[in-house]
Amino acid sequence: MAQGQHSAQQLMDIESELGAHNYHPLEVVLTRGEGIWVWDVDGKRYMDCLSAYSAVNQGHCHPKILNALIEQASRLPLTSRAFHNDQLALFYEEICALTNSHKVLPMNSGAEAVETAIKAVRKWGYEVKGVPHDQAEVIVCEEAFHGRTITIVGFSTDPKAHRNFGPFTPGFKIIPYGDAEALERAITPNTVAFLVEPIQGEAGVNIPPAGYLKRIREICSANTVMLVMDEIQTGLGRTGKLFAEEHEGVEADVTLVGKALSGGFYPMSAVLSNTEVLGVLQPGQHGSTFGGNPLACAVGRAALKVLTEEGLIENSARQGAYFLDELQKLRNNKVKEVRGRGLMLAIEFHPEIGGARQYSEALRAVGMLCKETHEDTLRISPPLVIKRDEVDWALERIDQVLRDT
Ligand SMILES: *Cc1c(COP(=O)(O)O)cnc(C)c1O
Repeated sequence: MAQGQHSAQQLMDIESELGAHNYHPLEVVLTRGEGIWVWDVDGKRYMDCLSAYSAVNQGHCHPKILNALIEQASRLPLTSRAFHNDQLALFYEEICALTNSHKVLPMNSGAEAVETAIKAVRKWGYEVKGVPHDQAEVIVCEEAFHGRTITIVGFSTDPKAHRNFGPFTPGFKIIPYGDAEALERAITPNTVAFLVEPIQGEAGVNIPPAGYLKRIREICSANTVMLVMDEIQTGLGRTGKLFAEEHEGVEADVTLVGKALSGGFYPMSAVLSNTEVLGVLQPGQHGSTFGGNPLACAVGRAALKVLTEEGLIENSARQGAYFLDELQKLRNNKVKEVRGRGLMLAIEFHPEIGGARQYSEALRAVGMLCKETHEDTLRISPPLVIKRDEVDWALERIDQVLRDT
């Protein structure tokens, strides 16, 4: 009971009593973080193997990002976009140079970036492609995760995400993930975009078959359909490249980033695109009070700089490859498959084992925080600053828990 007057149990009880129960967190109450480590209110240390769903790729409390936050917060946090601020242009310049983009639209949450992209490709469809009024179609994938707004959950195939939240926004067509021929069949003259994750994170680190990204890039180009890649989780180094699409050497027309864009300090997302798509938006047609604010831009600039200057993308590739190799050696009859790319790793258990939650709990007890995704899969995605001996530390614990649970 190191901090304040409340015990961990009291804090959890208050949350449970006063808060909506829209999450089912592990029973650990965190109070401090540094790099890959976090501490609970009783002083126990854990390795963070979730990284806030990849929002903390740069590690907890990175000093350079923290300094940028403090400096900007004490100077000027918010202007609204009614006026210019002296951070936005520099953020644009730096993110465009890094990602090879022509235009940027800054928002706050990932879901807002997805919504923004949907609005932009629809408008592009009517004004540039010539789709008849209100007929635009966007193709999406089964088991995708793109956020929690009404429009987005309306095209989710996860019953928990959409049941009893209707009626939903029309104009979406759902096809199987990883099946390029299904995309080809689904496209009509009214199709404006294909929205897809290069690896499905929330669905359990679903990696599409080799050649898929390349093939969907060709199909979209051949049909004048905008390829919108949701890299909110896979982007910014998580898979061992700046963007996961680079594993097949493709470039999307529209790329969505969020999460690690601020290194976990601040909600921040962005739509990155070629000039044609974001070029259709005129004053008054889209916006956000906080989107592109100077605090976010200063933090984002520092977070991107840390990612490249500290070699975190290369480290993700190197440690991820080692981690995956070693995980594959932990032979165990409860494990159905081990997979991953960079530091986006997953262990899928056989369904008859009774769910991955018991492993999240068992790992917590030995000092590792992981979260199951869907029923049977345990995702392992530590901050990209993890070192080789720390990967070994994690492997020992995973091995122990696989044998004992
Ligand atoms: C987390 C996530 C989102 C939504 O981001 P929020 O900031 O939670 O709204 C969208 N797409 C993907 C792939 C994500 O992982």
